[in-house]
Amino acid sequence: MAAGTYTCPFGDGCTSPLEFTTAAIYDHLRVHGHVYSHRGRAPCPWLGCSKEMRWGNVARHIIERHLQVKLRCVWCGRTYARKRVLTAHMNICETHITDIVQEYLNMTHHEEEFAFTY
Ligand SMILES: [Zn+2]
Ligand SMILES: [Zn+2]
Ligand SMILES: [Zn+2]
Repeated sequence: MAAGTYTCPFGDGCTSPLEFTTAAIYDHLRVHGHVYSHRGRAPCPWLGCSKEMRWGNVARHIIERHLQVKLRCVWCGRTYARKRVLTAHMNICETHITDIVQEYLNMTHHEEEFAFTY
């Protein structure tokens, strides 16, 4: 996404970047005047989509259907559609295991250094 070309999917002229978390999405929708009870029903505010659903599900719907965020292994970058599959992968991800060993070495080094500073 190049700078200056971003347009908000909820309204013209808005250049606030959209964070891919449900809390950030509800905050952003509030800016555009989409304020509903999470238990009530409302149409999806995404341009071109007017699917009606519980407002409490809208942010997740936007992330999954419109932003199409895939679950990504933070260590090797492989993407997975299901969290359970990703979690299983992350437990055995070789990149992760290498990192943990490196982290552990760094950590013990720091602990020795600061062990008696408090
Ligand atoms: Zn906006
Ligand atoms: Zn939608
Ligand atoms: Zn991985």
